Amino acid sequence: MKIPRLSSPFEMPRRSFLNLAAVTVSAIAASSSQAQSAEGKPPSGDGRLRIIVFGAHPDDCEISAGGTGAKWAAQGHYVKFVSCTNGDIGHWGMAGGRLAKRRAKEVGKCAEILGNQSQVLDIHDGELMVTMENRRTICRLIRDWQADIVISHRPNDYHPDHRYVGVLVMDAAYMVTVPHFCPDVPHLTKNPVFLFAEDEFRRPNPFTPDIVVSIDDVAEKKFAAIEALESQFYEGGCNGGPHLVPNPADSAAVAARKKAVREEWAGYFSATARRFRPALRERYGKARAEKVKYAEAFEICEYGRRPDKEELKRLFPFFGA
Ligand SMILES: [Zn+2]
Repeated sequence: MKIPRLSSPFEMPRRSFLNLAAVTVSAIAASSSQAQSAEGKPPSGDGRLRIIVFGAHPDDCEISAGGTGAKWAAQGHYVKFVSCTNGDIGHWGMAGGRLAKRRAKEVGKCAEILGNQSQVLDIHDGELMVTMENRRTICRLIRDWQADIVISHRPNDYHPDHRYVGVLVMDAAYMVTVPHFCPDVPHLTKNPVFLFAEDEFRRPNPFTPDIVVSIDDVAEKKFAAIEALESQFYEGGCNGGPHLVPNPADSAAVAARKKAVREEWAGYFSATARRFRPALRERYGKARAEKVKYAEAFEICEYGRRPDKEELKRLFPFFGA
């Protein structure tokens, strides 16, 4: 998204939306939907997979991994989505605390639909930086989740927050196993598998589809999540405008707008299936692969554990089912 100029008439005071007097760290649980322990942590040692996804804004995890996340969650695996900023400038007509709270609620609703946990870090949208404090925050979150799989943006991306999420997560890879780095949270004994979500940027190197997952069976959940992200898609986010939003009393116009949003995203998710059809054939066989309508794709980051084919089958227990 484009960042509105600071002189925008819509810009509002952007101090933190929560009472920071009571909060000493930047990580704030915005919502939590998965039935887990009181602290929101899944029980350990039960053999289920633990996946943590980092996105820059409260919608990125849902877009890049919402379908695959829903598939893991449906099988009882533990999935957490973390937005690394609070999204407080991501709208054409509102900003600040009011928008941050609204977006935290939106991703909370998505979490109920998709079956994941959701957390929003209280860092201003458009202002995420690669700092030691943020590296530690990411490292703690991965350790705390005892992640088997970590997913993020690649560091080649149009948006600075996306790029820096990619860098911060890469910087946490391996360091999560180093005992005296962030010794306040127990280190992991095994480096997780780190994955990048799909993008279309080609320089310095294009995205490589190491794993492509059909999300046809959970597509309706993903479309429901898109609808729940109302400020971003129905209303158009920071590059939208009042012309997109029909009168709520005009039910035909509301339905038409919802349909337009759904069709736009359907095109995007089906483009992934078309773009990576050869990779789908490898996983699903030719006959099944040709029928896949919607997909999500991931690239293995070289700095995490390098899974072999057998481990990939264990980590993505959807192929051949
Ligand atoms: Zn984003």
